[in-house]
Amino acid sequence: MKLTLVKNILDTRINRGAAMLEVSDIHVYYGLFEAVKGISVNIREKELVAIMGPNGHGKSTLIRAISGLVKIRGGKIEYNGKKIDKLKPPDIVKMGIIQVPEGGHLFPEMTVEENLLLGAYVPGAWKKRKENMQIVLDLFPILKDKMDQICLTLSGGERRAVAVGRGLMSSAKLLMLDEPSLGLSPLLAKELIKGIKKIKDTGISIILVEENIRYIRELADRIYLIEQGKVTLEGKKDQVLGNKHVKKAYLGII
Ligand code: ADP
Ligand code: MG
Repeated sequence: MKLTLVKNILDTRINRGAAMLEVSDIHVYYGLFEAVKGISVNIREKELVAIMGPNGHGKSTLIRAISGLVKIRGGKIEYNGKKIDKLKPPDIVKMGIIQVPEGGHLFPEMTVEENLLLGAYVPGAWKKRKENMQIVLDLFPILKDKMDQICLTLSGGERRAVAVGRGLMSSAKLLMLDEPSLGLSPLLAKELIKGIKKIKDTGISIILVEENIRYIRELADRIYLIEQGKVTLEGKKDQVLGNKHVKKAYLGII
């Protein structure tokens, strides 16, 4: 009886408070170079956490470490309480942790539909491919008339939409977007941001690496600032964007 009670209390706590992803004090090296120097971040269900910081300071490396694409040396990564930092990338994908890499990495000679369907080659996601495809097309209606077009001939914005859409085709529970708006015209970027906002509204947790403060302001619940391989500031959006150092270095306000 007592045990059940304790278990119930614990379950409630897990559901309410605990992070779905907990990255604790991880270090990543490329050869002798330490790119990530003891970073801790976490994200809860339905949250959108933005990662900002200068180029070359370890943001993509952090995302790649979560995906299992680079090994961590020290620290740990837990997903829903389970340690995942020794797992192989496909096993991490199967858990619903999906990365959309910088630039998207589509297959240029394959059509939009084929590229999207590639995302569905994940256990569980294949049976939901029709439903997920509908979600993708609702989010990015621009793709509706382009399903048979090869990706090579798409505009930059359309390509980015396919890359994010492919992530959704995998039935993502945690979507990690690495600079999705990079290089897009303001108009196309705005469309993409609208799509990301809608994804967030469906309840999918999102880690967004983004350099455009305007988009961060629009989308983020919390922000981590990463500088020189470390988290130098973290907090609720308003706290971080209101910080003196951030205002001076990233918003150009003195
Ligand atoms: P960001 O995403 O913040 O721009 P990255 O995580 O891509 O930064 O890179 C962090 C640092 O690690 C940079 O100095 C970069 O040159 C270095 N780096 C990234 N990838 C590799 C790699 N495959 N081999 C060696 N060094 C790398
Ligand atoms: Mg990067």
